[in-house]
Amino acid sequence: MLAAVLYGQEDLRLETVPDPEPGMGEIVIAVGAATTCGTDLKVWRRGGHARMLKPPTLFGHEAAGTIVALGEGVQGWNIGDRVVANNSAPCGQCFFCKRQEYSLCQDLLFNNGTFAPLLKIPAPIVEQNLLPIPEGLSFEMAAMTEPLACVLHGVARSNTKPGDRVLLMGDGAIGLMFVAALASGFSLSAPPSEIIVVGGSPARLEVAKQLGATHTYLHREVTDLPALTRKHTENWGADIVIEATGLPTAWETAIACGRPGATINLFGGCPKNTTITVNTEQLHYNELTLKGVFHNTPTFVRSALAFINSGQAPLELLISGQAPLSELGRVFEEMRDRKVIKVAMVPD
Ligand SMILES: [Zn+2]
Ligand SMILES: [Zn+2]
Repeated sequence: MLAAVLYGQEDLRLETVPDPEPGMGEIVIAVGAATTCGTDLKVWRRGGHARMLKPPTLFGHEAAGTIVALGEGVQGWNIGDRVVANNSAPCGQCFFCKRQEYSLCQDLLFNNGTFAPLLKIPAPIVEQNLLPIPEGLSFEMAAMTEPLACVLHGVARSNTKPGDRVLLMGDGAIGLMFVAALASGFSLSAPPSEIIVVGGSPARLEVAKQLGATHTYLHREVTDLPALTRKHTENWGADIVIEATGLPTAWETAIACGRPGATINLFGGCPKNTTITVNTEQLHYNELTLKGVFHNTPTFVRSALAFINSGQAPLELLISGQAPLSELGRVFEEMRDRKVIKVAMVPD
């Protein structure tokens, strides 16, 4: 089959590789749609990822499709089932898994290779993070389960309370999913009263509004974000700040935008070995909670598919279009130039 292989920094090639064969406990799906993701773009630009993959490797991690082959010992699934698979599964055995802190699993197994006609799903993912797609839900919508699961994990860890005023930094697919999840009040007792979004693209900020943002700002037009946030919050600062850009300077700004008692969710992973400076007085006397949140867990994978299927939020706005796999190179350039949000790649 012809599949995308990442060789290094901005070196992604479509190559002929052997068709995958399912081993013990594994399945193979025919990919129906594989959505592109900001993480793919980041990995493509940096040429690797600390936890997820090492080049050369099959590439892409969000996909939904149809089961075409079952390995020995697989039970409960049939050829022809429409499924979505998370890109990872926790080991279930380590110190953290035993404490149900699955996103901290020290042996988290990652699966890559969705930009291909066929995708093998390893046994731990088949066992824990493979879900049937509800009838009527398209492959491209179901494929967004993985990133949305990360976002729902992020929302759940943000200590949101009814009436909160949330500042969201970043208008990538992840930032926009946060808007959708927060505005719909999914898994919250009530949605926040305000969701202020700061981003870099007028078109994306328009989508943010359609998803429920109450105020949007272009970051290049904001000279003092903490001051702007205070203007919206009787001079206190945001109850919750969610940072979804992955830039250390943005992390520092995020901390400066929180009110006393705020939770600052530092969600965007920054480049390796970067550091930030935190004002100790502000951290201590303002009782700030600085929270890092990484990846997802099997519970949030299930919630994410349920949320997509509920139709509570117009998540289809995040998919800028479909493209055949042969155009993957062009699609990555368009992602780099921020012309598209997510693109559903379909095998040629
Ligand atoms: Zn992703
Ligand atoms: Zn583990």
